[in-house]
Order: sequence, then structure tokens, then C-alpha cells
Amino acid sequence: MKRADIKSMTLEELTGFVTELGEKPFRAKQLYQWMHEKQAGSYDEMTNLPKAFREKLTENAKYVSLKTVRMLESGIDGTRKYLFGLSDGNVIESVFMRYRHGNSVCISSQVGCRMGCRFCASTLDGLTRNLTPSEMLDQVYRIGRSVGERISNVVVMGSGEPFDNYDSLIRFIRLLSDENGLHISQRNITVSTCGLVPQMRRFSGEGLAVTLALSLHAADDETRKKLLPVANRYKLDDVMDACREFYEKTGRRMTFEYSLAAGVNDSPAEAQKLARLLRDMHGHVNLIPVNPIRERDFRQSERQTVDRFRECLERNGINATVRREMGRDIGGACGQLRKSYLTSEERKNEA
Ligand code: SAH
Repeated sequence: MKRADIKSMTLEELTGFVTELGEKPFRAKQLYQWMHEKQAGSYDEMTNLPKAFREKLTENAKYVSLKTVRMLESGIDGTRKYLFGLSDGNVIESVFMRYRHGNSVCISSQVGCRMGCRFCASTLDGLTRNLTPSEMLDQVYRIGRSVGERISNVVVMGSGEPFDNYDSLIRFIRLLSDENGLHISQRNITVSTCGLVPQMRRFSGEGLAVTLALSLHAADDETRKKLLPVANRYKLDDVMDACREFYEKTGRRMTFEYSLAAGVNDSPAEAQKLARLLRDMHGHVNLIPVNPIRERDFRQSERQTVDRFRECLERNGINATVRREMGRDIGGACGQLRKSYLTSEERKNEA
């Protein structure tokens, strides 16, 4: 029999599961608290559960708990990058960032990614598999425990396309914001997508109060197609319609991410075009100087170009901020830590 993934279950489902094992329903509540509120690393920590019950659990349910393979901490701003090992030997990365408004964790939603965005390191080896809700949650839990501080914000902006793993993403958000668990406010959860239109529309109707971020990176289809292969599937007009629907249905302002690459999408004309595109969108633009990766030859826009780009947006009434680079000394964009780890492991195996 396949062992159940109890950390991905709602309290209701867990109650059903525990009852089937012949235990009283209140044991489910205790177990749920151990997993989601106290973020226990194993059954052994659950000291108020009878030993016989814990043994039954070990037999019938797997306990998803990530192993820290590597951790890098920035000497500049305390940013930490974690490389976590999954039970099947895959590795994923997550980031911890300290901001004035609270502690933030950036999680991965898939092992690898199949979206193929040109400047992104996460997609270089394609998609290996989706993460389970428990594997997404445990990135937040393990980091919270390791730092020993409250996590107040979670962004699904690490490796992977969250809307390519839709059902697990929704379950993850509900568990993460559940009042019986870690209870992170949905307002403090951000999901970033490269723009999968059907899922964006579905997401608008989920009744969630989270922030949606769209990876825009260009203000016209032609340029966008050069950077994001997904732009061949969905026209910008349709993507923007889906954004409008999200705002209308949820009342939540969107974030538009725009990575600036020198000579690719950073001209004044492109800033104008972006301002026109976003005129009625009630959104906010996050400008990210592109993080060059070894495998591709994108270069960062000059500081001055970035400032001019931002000023042009502001002049046209579009709110824009330049994303502060965190953890510069521990380096690397999305997916680079994992990529360098995999490459070094391959070298070891070849030797
Ligand atoms: N798949 C989702 C979330 C993961 S990427 C998405 O596409 O939104 C998070 C953000 O970082 C996206 O906007 C992505 O385009 C951007 N990004 C990835 N690699 C980057 C790099 N090397 N430099 C700058 N931005 C990058």
C-alpha cells in the first residue's frame, strides 16, 4: 500500500485518515498541530501522541520533511539560500530574506521547470516533477525552524511555474493560511506566474486574497516571445484580460515583474509602451535588473538606464520600484544554486 502524504491533507481529511486507523478524531487535531503549527521534523517529536499511534503512523503514512543539503548565508544582509533534499534524491532551493516589514521565504513549486524562459536557470534542464503541497509547505517550515523567527511573507517565486502545478499550489495556500496551522495571512502570500491564462482565470475564482504577480518582461508580443516561449501560446491581450479579471474579482492589485536586460527590453520607447499597456491595470511594476546566468548571454542594464526606465513609468502614472538585490555575495538567480550543485555532482560521477 502507498503510504499516505499526511502533511498534504486538510484537517478534515486527516480526521478521516486517523479514524480509519482506529484512533479517536481528536488525535487528528494533535497531529495537525504538530505538523503545521509546531512544524515538527519527525514523528519522534510528537511526544503527546501514544507510541503505538506513532508506530501506526510510521507504517501507514510518510512524513515529508526536507533535509538541508547546503545553506549559504549572506554577510551583507542575512539572506539565506537553502538547498533541500527530497526523499527521492531530488534537490530544490528556497530563499530566506529579512525585510523591514518582516521575514520572507521564497519557495520552489517544481523540481526544474518546463517553461523555458530564456534568462532563467531553473528551466535549463527542463521539468523533473511537481512538488507536493507538503514539500512546498516544508520549505517554509524548515526555514522558520532553522532561523528561529516568525515567517510573515511567502512568495511562490522560486524554481518552477506554480500554475503548472495548480492543484498542489491551491492546497498549499489553503494549508499555509489555515488558522490551525502556521496561519500566514493570504495577503502576505504572492504567487508569480509567467502567464498561463486558463489557470489565471481559474485562480481569480478561488476566493483567495493572495497577490498575483505576472512575469511580463516585455510590452509587446514579439519581444515577449523572444524571452518567454509561453508567449507563443497566449497573446498579451489575453494575458492582460486575465489580469483585469483577477483585479475585478478579487480587488487585489497585481504586481508586474519586468526583468531588464541590456539592449533587449530596456529602451525609453519600451518604457513608454509598458506604461501604455498598464495604464488601467491598477498594478505595480517590479523592475529586476536581469541576473546574468552562465548559460546565456544576457547582460544587466546600466544603473542609469534602469532609473530612467522607472522614471518614465512614474511620469506616466505607473507605480514602479527597482527590486533591491539581496544576498549579492551568495550570488545567483533563481535556480542557480541547484544548477551548480547538479553540475558538481555530475562531475563527481564522471571522475
Ligand atoms: N514561473 C514563475 C515563477 C518563478 S521565476 C514566473 O515565471 O513568474 C520568478 C521571477 O524571476 C520571474 O519573473 C522570472 O521571470 C524572474 N527571473 C528568473 N530568472 C531571472 C534572472 N536570471 N534574472 C532576472 N529575473 C529572473
